[in-house]
Amino acid sequence: MSTPVPAAVHDAALPSHEGGVDWARVRADFPLLMREVHGKPLVYFDNANTGQKPLPVIASQDAFYRRQNANVSRAVHALGTEATEAYEGARGKLARFLGVRADELVLCSGTTFAINLVAYSWALPRLKAGDVILVSRMEHHANIVPWQLVAQRTGATVRVAEILADGSLDLDALYRAMTAEVKLLALAHVSNVLGTVNPVREICREARRRGIVTVVDGSQAAPHMKLDVAAIGCDFYALTGHKMCAPTGTGALWARREHLLAMPPFIGGGEMIKEVSFDGTVFNDPPHKFEAGTPNIAGFVGLGAAVDYLESVGMDAIAAREAELLAHATEALQAIPGLRIFGTAPHKAAVISFLVEGAHAHDLATLLDLEGVAVRSGQHCAHPLLQFFGVAATLRASLAFYNTHEEIERFAAALDKTRRLLQ
Ligand code: PLP
Repeated sequence: MSTPVPAAVHDAALPSHEGGVDWARVRADFPLLMREVHGKPLVYFDNANTGQKPLPVIASQDAFYRRQNANVSRAVHALGTEATEAYEGARGKLARFLGVRADELVLCSGTTFAINLVAYSWALPRLKAGDVILVSRMEHHANIVPWQLVAQRTGATVRVAEILADGSLDLDALYRAMTAEVKLLALAHVSNVLGTVNPVREICREARRRGIVTVVDGSQAAPHMKLDVAAIGCDFYALTGHKMCAPTGTGALWARREHLLAMPPFIGGGEMIKEVSFDGTVFNDPPHKFEAGTPNIAGFVGLGAAVDYLESVGMDAIAAREAELLAHATEALQAIPGLRIFGTAPHKAAVISFLVEGAHAHDLATLLDLEGVAVRSGQHCAHPLLQFFGVAATLRASLAFYNTHEEIERFAAALDKTRRLLQ
């Protein structure tokens, strides 16, 4: 006898937060947070690296493989139709979440793929010697290296927009750097190291006035704030699912339709074609033109479930909760002697990079791990940013809405204890 599993088990399990969010209940949706590490209750403060998954997302994976697993857009049988509907349904949910049209949303493995798609398909055929690609000092390597590769092959150059000492973008310098040679601006919405929230709407307006195409890296924004991507006014917006409660290997690139129509495919294969002969190939319409091969179907079903989950909690409630946790964590860290915070911009997300005088970042992170506290140490895929601050590594505590004030207290106490051991 087969075990009955509801087709949309993740929908059935969605919590209701009418009348205010019960944060203890939200936390209980994340089973991993209940575990111990080295005999201590886990404090997971590495959310900018990857986020944890709530029960409805975990259940969606189980339900998909038990009930719906088939390939998309190929088979006419019931399972094929259901899998295709689930995959396209996830695209629709993500499009609604971002405030964009579903046919302008390319599903891909994450931000790294999304930015490379723009680099190889939009920039490579267009840029030439003398052109400039403008990036900021605070970019993740995923928003630097693809542009360097394009520059090497086209003769264009990469120009850097500098930041101020508090980790904000130097807007005057940025606008001065937007000269006539600049064809493309690639910029993080939120810095993964400093937490700085860049005024992307204003910046994209200035870029557009100058005819500069804009790529916004939304990896660290999508999990933390209500987005209206169409209102930002950029040309491309990239994001990654695993930082927003979804499975790894999921993400998306939103692009203006005019770009998607004009861009050649990046990767060739099945799904991205209408017709193939040895005389040539007719490509599919966007966004499918950019989705060659079998996608991470279950992963995208999980991304759809993650979007449902985040919306059930509420992005405004999540932003408010994280602002409160950030204020508490900042205050708790500032009380620790010799601690220096990198990134104190007035508008920042719940990411705190810091160093403690006399203690190496990796040593502190290793000792914190023994206390059950997971924070990242190192360069956070942002070597040029750390070079600006003249340091080889920092520790980074990055918080999410499912973290608690009590965890912040335990983290601060563990940090104070470990830094004493090292000094
Ligand atoms: N951009 C930023 C700002 C990030 O924080 C990250 C991940 O850490 C990435 C890009 C790369 O994301 P992924 O590895 O999921 O493609």
